[in-house]
Amino acid sequence: PATDTILSVNNIEVVYDHVILVLKGVSLTVPRGGIVAILGANGAGKTTTLKAISNLLHAERGEVTKGSILFDGEQVDHMSPSDLVRRGCIQVMEGRHCFGHLSIEENLMTGAFTRRDGKAAIRQDLEMIYELFPRLKQRRGSMAGYTSGGEQQMCAVGRAMMSRPKMILLDEPSMGLAPQVVDEIFEIVQKLNASQGVSFLVAEQNTAMALRYATFGYIMETGRIVMDGEASALRENEDVKEFYLGIA
Ligand code: ATP
Repeated sequence: PATDTILSVNNIEVVYDHVILVLKGVSLTVPRGGIVAILGANGAGKTTTLKAISNLLHAERGEVTKGSILFDGEQVDHMSPSDLVRRGCIQVMEGRHCFGHLSIEENLMTGAFTRRDGKAAIRQDLEMIYELFPRLKQRRGSMAGYTSGGEQQMCAVGRAMMSRPKMILLDEPSMGLAPQVVDEIFEIVQKLNASQGVSFLVAEQNTAMALRYATFGYIMETGRIVMDGEASALRENEDVKEFYLGIA
């Protein structure tokens, strides 16, 4: 049954290497159709939270040891990342991870690997992505490794869109990009949200930028959520201003 909450993370703990407790009881929710930000300094646990949701911790000897995760009304802890993609939840990892030796278009097509709805539908989505990302259309034949950081980030988001997700977990989209390009990326997030109804959970160190586009934010410090609220309220909060926005 479709509820108003697309994702709820309930009190999860994550341990690396059997002993290092990194998430110490994290809870958060994403409303259907929302853009929610996880904010915090380097090492606070943002990436670990996203990877816990999409079950990508095993490769790093990490494990969810407590709590539960519900996506779209279904308990998804212990579900494989590809099963989650089939259910509509996909992660775009930090650092973009395009296939450097494939063209932009080939990269986009790899995003459709879980689909069984035929070439015509996939082609149609490719055209939709080119409409939303004119820059990717221009560069469709270029090897991804030779495109700019911003184009690679767009490619990574576009590739995720090719799986027809209900929700994208987006890790640090601003990393290494000029402010103007970061703006462009967040504009795209907003467009995908508005036009396709995709929900977003975005991990960001760039608090100012994230709070401009998100509707709600969670702030993490050393494996815990220490504050949350509507983006507009967080922007006006004195502690947030001082410690995260650099406004005394
Ligand atoms: P970043 O912006 O660097 O991604 P983050 O807020 O996403 O930071 P995480 O990458 O989730 O933070 O890291 C949280 C904590 O977990 C850090 O203290 C980090 O050193 C630790 N950590 C991350 N990966 C591992 C691992 N594979 N083994 C042990 N500790 C890890």
